[in-house]
Amino acid sequence: MYLGEVVELGPVDAVWDAPAHPYTRALLAAMPSSDPDRRTEVPPISGDPPNPIDPPAGCRFHTRCPFAEPLCANDTPKLTDLDTMGHQAACYMAIAGSGHSRAPAKAKGENAA
Ligand code: SF4
Repeated sequence: MYLGEVVELGPVDAVWDAPAHPYTRALLAAMPSSDPDRRTEVPPISGDPPNPIDPPAGCRFHTRCPFAEPLCANDTPKLTDLDTMGHQAACYMAIAGSGHSRAPAKAKGENAA
């Protein structure tokens, strides 16, 4: 969850092995490690959280997301199925054909027209 909204959900293995939302990735990257080779030197997320009483329009994470594009500030991404096992994310990068430059052009299994 980020600012009161679910941004990703699904089976633990799916979310753990292939987090789709940048906030989920940042949370997982922030986990401390006792392995010196896996210690992070750079914070996985920058900036301060916005005021939850007056959250930003569009994707609530767009003010801190390194992948934010103009559409992220204009419209709120909906939780979208990433597979048939219940893995979902609310990020335009995960929504086929959303218009985000990193989004897949077509959903899995969809034929090119
Ligand atoms: S919708 Fe945009 S701002 Fe929100 S997490 Fe995805 S890329 Fe980042």
